[in-house]
Amino acid sequence: MASEPSSLNYEPLLVVVSGPGGVGKSTVVDALIERYPELWLSRSWTTRERRPGESEDAYVFVSRQAFEERIAADGFLEYATFLDNYYGTPTLDTSGERGPTGRDVILEIDVQGARQVLAKDPDAVLIFLQAPDPAEQEARLRRRGDPEHKVEQRLNKAAEERNAGLELGASVIVNHDITDTVEAMWAVIEKARAARGGNGL
Ligand code: 5GP
Repeated sequence: MASEPSSLNYEPLLVVVSGPGGVGKSTVVDALIERYPELWLSRSWTTRERRPGESEDAYVFVSRQAFEERIAADGFLEYATFLDNYYGTPTLDTSGERGPTGRDVILEIDVQGARQVLAKDPDAVLIFLQAPDPAEQEARLRRRGDPEHKVEQRLNKAAEERNAGLELGASVIVNHDITDTVEAMWAVIEKARAARGGNGL
């Protein structure tokens, strides 16, 4: 496929943002994209039900059948099962699903997915967000309106995910404050851009 002209003077980076539920991941990622529009957020597919009040754009919400058909067609860069649902990143070069080229790509995915992305692109940058304290993380999860058993499952997964993130060499950022977290993420991204020989813009 012919590639469009890129405003980057290096191959776009894949920036993987992981972290347990309730850590404020999507809020932080949305703020990062808003602050730095040269980043492009990939929209995942999931078989999970949309939560009450959740944006219709949060994911492409699909049936298991549609997801499995796409797996069979080799249509995911990575995918994983997380608490009984599929989540996956559509392949980036599928027409219509890739944002304008010339932007670094942000993936907000779990650590299983992060491992798959790193296997495909060893230069991918991995950021692991952590909650400032477990009580606040639990409170955020409950405010989101998940059923109690889901909240507990997600809390149990948190420590497991952190260890996996550290093993993968992630930069760990504690999300005390959104603005500080966004700037800390940007610093990690800029460093990786410089390592690629990019000019930062
Ligand atoms: P949630 O149900 O809270 O929206 O997401 C559950 C977990 O799945 C989170 O850790 C989230 O980052 C992760 N996730 C979201 N999209 C993807 C994806 O495309 N691939 C993978 N592997 N995980 C994803």
